[in-house]
Amino acid sequence: MSYKLKVKSLPASGRLRVKKYKKLLKKYCTQVFDLGLVTGKSGNLSMRISPDSFLITATGKSKGEITDRDLVVCKINTDSADKRASSEWRLHRAIYRARKDAKAVFHSQPPFTTIIACAKNKKIKKDIIPEAVAYLKKIEIIPYCHAGGIELAKKVGAGALRADVLLLENHGAVSFGPSIDEAVLKSVTLEFLCKLTVLSRAAGIELNSIPQKMTYDFLRQLRVKGGV
Ligand SMILES: [Zn+2]
Repeated sequence: MSYKLKVKSLPASGRLRVKKYKKLLKKYCTQVFDLGLVTGKSGNLSMRISPDSFLITATGKSKGEITDRDLVVCKINTDSADKRASSEWRLHRAIYRARKDAKAVFHSQPPFTTIIACAKNKKIKKDIIPEAVAYLKKIEIIPYCHAGGIELAKKVGAGALRADVLLLENHGAVSFGPSIDEAVLKSVTLEFLCKLTVLSRAAGIELNSIPQKMTYDFLRQLRVKGGV
């Protein structure tokens, strides 16, 4: 039996909250599409809107053309979803279940990140630029499972306990965080790092690391400023 939460049945305060989240989610859908982090109808975004529900992009829709009708409410503690929800709703739900601090999830398919996700050598050197040191604390590699499947959701849920940036083998990436801004920023940074990795490998350029002492010093400064 498919589950469908009717927004109209929510009390007025709940409807206002959903409206506010829809506006924000649409803004980020346009942004990730314009940045080329999703292509065609690929990729999906969601935001936790209450302790037991999240708003997610609909299946089969370009993120460049998302309207209010293309954003669907799903329950976190229910085993079925509105049939209009992204086919990856289980993956999003697994993260919200595993990490109470996750407020937004972004499943992307940017070109350079996807090259690394498909590469035999998935090693990415993070300590080459300060942004990667700051935003990509750990990148977890999730072995290949079919898109939209229960198995993939299980592995992503387990991986989310170890890292907030996940590279899905032969598929793409997932990032999440305490806000939609941070979830997207992690994917933007990952894509930039993967671009540097792919281009430097192709050009045969060996990348230099920031000295470890400087890395620790940089992270300490960010913590003091409240940046990480
Ligand atoms: Zn996918």
